[in-house]
Amino acid sequence: MSQKIFIKTFGCQMNEYDSNRIYDTVKKIGYIKTDKYEEANCYLLNTCHIRNKAKEKVYHEIGRVKKLFKSKKKPLVIIAGCVAQAENQEMIRREPYIDLVIGPQSYHKINNTILNYIDKQNKFEETEFDAISKFDYLSKIKNELGKVSSFLTIQEGCDKFCHFCVVPFTRGPEYSRPFSQIIDEAKSLVDSGAKELILLGQNVNAYNNKGTRLSNLILEIEKISGIKRIRYSTSHPKDMTEDLIEVYKYSKKLMPLIHLPVQSGSNKILKLMNRKHSIDRYLEIFYNLKEINSNIEFSSDFIIGYPGEENQDFEDTLNLIKRVKFINSYSFIFSPRPGTVAAGLELIDKKISNKRLEKIQNQLFENQIIKNKSLENKILNVLVENLTDDKTQVFGRSEYMTPVIFDGKKNDIGKIIPVKIRRSNRSTLFGEIIDNSNQKVA
Ligand code: SF4
Repeated sequence: MSQKIFIKTFGCQMNEYDSNRIYDTVKKIGYIKTDKYEEANCYLLNTCHIRNKAKEKVYHEIGRVKKLFKSKKKPLVIIAGCVAQAENQEMIRREPYIDLVIGPQSYHKINNTILNYIDKQNKFEETEFDAISKFDYLSKIKNELGKVSSFLTIQEGCDKFCHFCVVPFTRGPEYSRPFSQIIDEAKSLVDSGAKELILLGQNVNAYNNKGTRLSNLILEIEKISGIKRIRYSTSHPKDMTEDLIEVYKYSKKLMPLIHLPVQSGSNKILKLMNRKHSIDRYLEIFYNLKEINSNIEFSSDFIIGYPGEENQDFEDTLNLIKRVKFINSYSFIFSPRPGTVAAGLELIDKKISNKRLEKIQNQLFENQIIKNKSLENKILNVLVENLTDDKTQVFGRSEYMTPVIFDGKKNDIGKIIPVKIRRSNRSTLFGEIIDNSNQKVA
């Protein structure tokens, strides 16, 4: 009888990618994914350390699992991801309901770890930094999920040590996968139905494997005939090199939305954060790209209320948002992460941070509404990803990643369809198919 695994994923796109690869791996030892926790013989939590109180949330979740399985046979409980990496053995000591703890650089060892546990009932923690072996193993796996838009990790880890961030501690130093391994995986994803690839890395534009850079990868991947769109995330302004900027002149498949986290509009705060870039450099990148293609848009991440942020620093951030007209961005109030430099700094008044966050989010929402409104009555190319939940329409994405809903058919999935936008709200565009596509696409 096959075993059932329930995988719950917290956090970023990299975790989503990792969860899929973990599933590809455990399938080899007979696990089948289930969406019904009550059927599971194995409960795997892929955790994220970015959010506040991440560790406590994991123990809370385990408490919930314990209750869910109170009158059933206990499942094998595995904690994966960045909390697993940061806490390692401590997790099994604190919560004996946990059986295995496995860090992000050890997923290639998960089958042996599970089989060893089943055989000997040895609780185990596997948290070495071993990115090279991991990708050597994982690259041999065929992805069978068949998604239209698929993640592809090309780089992991970070050497930048921003003062607020745990990634350098949980994901280890920067590592770039070999060029040919990535191209092979891209081809395999396309063979299994992917039309869009989102290249992932904690510092994706720091990609450098024996001198080949992200720009080289993009140009090589777009030669694969089944690929219609390429995106990458998450970038650092410091690694926005000239070759990467120039690639926007030549690439036909690279999408015109750039997620480039700035975190703050104040040079003083960027220095306190140890961000290693200035606002002048950020704006230089922005204007250079706009000159290449005026339709390029930027999205970003913002940390509000970082220790030391004064009113003028906050106003600088607000002004930057108005100037760059960021869309699709994320903003959070600073919260300290144990083990980081910023963890020991004096917090600013919560009421002030809340007010500032509200102002920032209102501005970001306004930018998004204006952008979406500007697309009404225009024709957009939409890559169709799936049917809507009620199966009456189809759901796709514009070049700017904005969801678009229209009356399409099941066989539109995977195609790029010209859609005339009829109305919009902040998060979604609604349109209709244009039969005669002689009209100009925006
Ligand atoms: S560059 Fe990104 S991943 Fe690296 S430390 Fe800074 S915020 Fe974290």
